[in-house]
Amino acid sequence: MTRLPDLARTRQLGGVVAQRLRSLVRAQDTVARFSGDQFVLLIDGASVAALTELANRLVRWLGHPYDIIDTKLAVSVTLGISMIQDPTTSVDEALRTADLAMYAAKESGRAAYRMFDPEMRSAILERLLMARQLQQALDRGEFSLSYQPIVSRNGDRWEVHQLEALIRWNQPERGLVSPADFIPVAEHTGSIVAIGAWVLRSACEQIAAWQRSDRRVGVHVNVSGRQLKEVDFVPLVMRVVAETGIDPSDLILELTETAMLDDLRAAQKPLNDLRAMGIRIALDDFGTGYSSLTYLGQLPIDIVKIDRSFVANLDHPDKLMMLATIMRLMETLRVVVIAEGVETSEELTHVLELGIDAVQGFYFSRPVAAASLPAAIPACEACAVPKGISSGRAVSLRHPAQRGRRTA
Ligand code: C2E
Ligand code: MG
Ligand code: MG
Repeated sequence: MTRLPDLARTRQLGGVVAQRLRSLVRAQDTVARFSGDQFVLLIDGASVAALTELANRLVRWLGHPYDIIDTKLAVSVTLGISMIQDPTTSVDEALRTADLAMYAAKESGRAAYRMFDPEMRSAILERLLMARQLQQALDRGEFSLSYQPIVSRNGDRWEVHQLEALIRWNQPERGLVSPADFIPVAEHTGSIVAIGAWVLRSACEQIAAWQRSDRRVGVHVNVSGRQLKEVDFVPLVMRVVAETGIDPSDLILELTETAMLDDLRAAQKPLNDLRAMGIRIALDDFGTGYSSLTYLGQLPIDIVKIDRSFVANLDHPDKLMMLATIMRLMETLRVVVIAEGVETSEELTHVLELGIDAVQGFYFSRPVAAASLPAAIPACEACAVPKGISSGRAVSLRHPAQRGRRTA
């Protein structure tokens, strides 16, 4: 089963994929197109070894680029395999188990295949239950936002001019569920679109409330790739900004590399439209995705957030060297760099020595409810800048209107 890059090309590409699929199986096997980008293969009398070999072949060859009109298109392939040994198994059951295996393969990353095993059923049933609970969660008011300060240095003082909004789900039976667990489920089912719209509106209402009480603070909002693909995404952001009356320069949208690079051409237009409104774009979790330095220059971004996995390993000379190189590139690209997940003073010292502009992490503050922020922010300001650090670029994250140099 294949994942196609965009709907408009699906039909054309589907036909070519079907032909290639046909050429990769035996004459006696059945190939059926099940829906737009889903195919079903019936392979009679094959052993586990033969199916594994076939799966590897399909993943490898179906993933080769296709010439469609004048462009080369790449697709990635996810396969779910169900071995049917009992001849009384219904077609529905066979398809359902293959589908569950495909779901498990998708969970484990693209371009993969999985064989169905009965344990998948309980894991997947649990995710289906979570998906159903997520659909009700908005109506039941189970979500809230926490805010984590992003701290920048001004001489020997720390300042907080930006925060990251992070969703929290308090599910009555489960308690507090981590976004790392439920966001992937919401992305898979599509409920992230409604949840993301709620996050955006709530964060903008909070920015507006702060503006009314004369507090100027930029808020980072996480946006999933799925939201960006919605044709209605840019109009939604425009509407929310207009209705809440916020200054668009107080809104920063965070996207991961995967979300932007999945279909770079398709992502560029909405991102440029948002930037034209004055909204800034941050590349989240840098160092966990493709991390292609070649692509970095092509992305319409203002801010790069270096992932904690980098920050936590800066005592390794090769990681340090790599980050130093990345920092030089960022300087050329004139993007602002934020280090995520700084927990210790050693990590802070490392990132400051590299010239990183701003820092976010438990060292300063955990994400807290908006009402608790005034207490959390002075706590950041009370942290001393480690002595002997002079190479920091000390870029302020203050609101652009109050500042001369680069913006963060
Ligand atoms: P993220 O956007 O990279 O957010 C930073 C995550 O790192 C947060 O986890 C934050 O609590 C955590 N963190 C901050 N400082 C430290 C530190 O010093 N050490 C460690 N170990 N962790 C730190 P959280 O809130 O659990 O969120 C996890 C991920 O879930 C986020 O990663 C983001 O990808 C996603 N997420 C959260 N809220 C939203 C949302 O509203 N929409 C979408 N689409 N995704 C969201
Ligand atoms: Mg983020
Ligand atoms: Mg991140």
